[in-house]
Amino acid sequence: MLETVANKLRAGERLSHEDGLVLFSHPDVVEVGKLANLVRERLHGDRTYFNRNMRLEVTNVCVASCLFCSFAKLEEGSPGARTMTLEEAWRELQVRMDDPPAEIHIVNGLHPGLPFSYYEELLAGFKRIKPDIHMKCFTAVEIHFFARHYGMTYVEVLERLRRAGLDSLPGGGAEIFHPEVRTRISHDKATAEEYLEVHRVAHRLGIRTNATMLYGHIETFEHRVDHLLRLRALQDETKGLQAFIPLAFHPDGNGMKNLPAPTAIDALRTVAVSRLLLDNVPHIKAYWVSMTPEVAQIALRFGADDIDGTIVHETIYRAAGSRSPDGLTVERLVRLIQEAARVPVERDTFYNVVREHPRAAVPESALKVRDRNARKHLEVLS
Ligand code: SF4
Repeated sequence: MLETVANKLRAGERLSHEDGLVLFSHPDVVEVGKLANLVRERLHGDRTYFNRNMRLEVTNVCVASCLFCSFAKLEEGSPGARTMTLEEAWRELQVRMDDPPAEIHIVNGLHPGLPFSYYEELLAGFKRIKPDIHMKCFTAVEIHFFARHYGMTYVEVLERLRRAGLDSLPGGGAEIFHPEVRTRISHDKATAEEYLEVHRVAHRLGIRTNATMLYGHIETFEHRVDHLLRLRALQDETKGLQAFIPLAFHPDGNGMKNLPAPTAIDALRTVAVSRLLLDNVPHIKAYWVSMTPEVAQIALRFGADDIDGTIVHETIYRAAGSRSPDGLTVERLVRLIQEAARVPVERDTFYNVVREHPRAAVPESALKVRDRNARKHLEVLS
C-alpha cells in the first residue's frame, strides 16, 4: 500500500486521509522516511535552516489547566509561579547584546491579572533595545485569551500588538485539534476552530505564523492525520503558514505522567508524515528541544529542513523532563547539520538567508576530522 502512496507522490498528487493512515501505520519507518526525504530534497535540496533565536517565557501563571502542561502555575504566589517585571524581561536581551539573537520567541501562561499594556510595553521595550529584533510572540491561544479577557476582537488585539512591535506568531497551542482529544487534554482554552481562526485573521493582516501538533499521548493516528489536514486546509486558504513543528509529548510532572514519552522512531515518523501530508507548508522543523539534538539531526533525513535555533534558555520542555540542553551554539548547530550531510543555512524568521555555511566536503571527511580530534584528545590524556 505504500507503493500506492509513492506512486501518488511521483505523479504529484495530493495525499488523502487514508494515505496518512497508511504512512503512520507502515511497519518500515525508513521507507516512509525515504519518501519524505524525496519531497524535502525536491523543495530544499540539502539546505537546512537554523536561526539565532532566544526563547523567553515572561509568566508561567495560567488560568487554564492543560493535562500535559508541567509549566503553568494556577496563580501568582503559588510555589514556582513567576512573572517577570518588564525590566527583568528586557535585561535578558540587554545582557546578550554582544552577540544578540535575531529573534525573540515569547510564549506564556494565560495570566488573568496583567494589564494589556504590559504586553505592548514588553514588545516596545525590546524594539527600543534592538530595533531590528524580530518579535515572534504569543500563541493563538494567548491571542484568543487576550481578546476574551480584554474585550477586543482578534483584529484589534493583533493590530495593537503589531503597533507595539509584534512581527509574527509562533505555532504553539495547537495540541491536537480533534475534539475527542482536545476536550480531554485542553478543555479550558481556545478550541481548534478558535486557534485556526486566530491564524486566519493574522494571515489576512499579513502576519505570518507557524503551527504545531503535540503528539505521543492519548491521540490516535486518525487524530494526527485529522490535525494535519485541518492545517493543510487553512494553508490552502491563506498561505500564511511558514513552518510546521511536530512537538513530542513529555510526561514529567503533568497530568499524563503515567504515559510513556514517544520514542525516537515515532518522532521521525511524525516528521516524515508531516512533510508528506503538508504539501503546501514550506518548512518542517525538527525542533531539537522537543526531540533532542541527536534525533533532530536524523530527522534532517526524514523530511525536516529546519532544526530551529540557538534558543538560549527554554523552560516549558525542561519542566516536563526534557534532557535536551538549555541552548545550542551556532557552531554546534552547524556541525549537527554538516554531519547529516546537509548544507547549514542561517536564516531570519522569514527564511531570508543570513549566511550559507559550507557543506562538509563529504560526510566522511567530517567524521575524519572528528577522528583526528579524538586522536589528539587521546594523546593529551595519555
Ligand atoms: S499549555 Fe499553555 S494554556 Fe495550557 S496550562 Fe500550560 S501554559 Fe496554560
